[in-house]
Amino acid sequence: MVKDKVMDLVDKGLMLPLMEEFYTIQGEGYHKGTAAYFIRVGGCDVGCHWCDVKESWDADIHPPTAITGIVENAAKYSDTIVVTGGEPLTWDMGPLTMALKDKNLKTHIETSGAYALTGVWDWICLSPKKNKLPQSEIYGKAHELKVIVYNKHDFIFAEEQAAQVDKNCVLYLQPEWSVREKTIPLIVDYVMKNPKWIVSLQTHKYLNIP
Ligand code: SF4
Repeated sequence: MVKDKVMDLVDKGLMLPLMEEFYTIQGEGYHKGTAAYFIRVGGCDVGCHWCDVKESWDADIHPPTAITGIVENAAKYSDTIVVTGGEPLTWDMGPLTMALKDKNLKTHIETSGAYALTGVWDWICLSPKKNKLPQSEIYGKAHELKVIVYNKHDFIFAEEQAAQVDKNCVLYLQPEWSVREKTIPLIVDYVMKNPKWIVSLQTHKYLNIP
């Protein structure tokens, strides 16, 4: 009975399987180097083989947590809140983002776009994945396209994805961490030949922060 009630609240986006939350420096993409509070929501079935947060995949191991508490906590630390995962769009992001906006906080999301876009966002970082492509509606709304480069084919994938976003969307190529020594020279060369792209590095990993 209690379990059903919790599941109902999760379905409505009033509770979310919270994996972790922390105040740190955004390491990647357009807002890199700026302080932000991160909310990492569990649950993802996209299945990237190189995923560096595989412990996020199983939503059942992350406690359903009331969004009111999440928002109260977040507001203590920063005016910029980054919702990440996992895949946050597994869940209805409407209630969480509306509660964050009620406190005048800026809402950012990091998503593969694999599921319907919910929520009110000041910044959408779309990081598409080959095994579960984004839903078409998100392309025109993304502020930033961040393609992870694991191998050479990812440059072709990146161009296919860039062809679908708005002309003002900022384009990033980011080396997958475990193969960075091999892919950074390829990315540098590619960006010099195709300067609409910008290099993104996971600077938080170099800084040794979360
Ligand atoms: S979409 Fe993100 S969280 Fe999900 S498997 Fe891929 S890298 Fe991991």
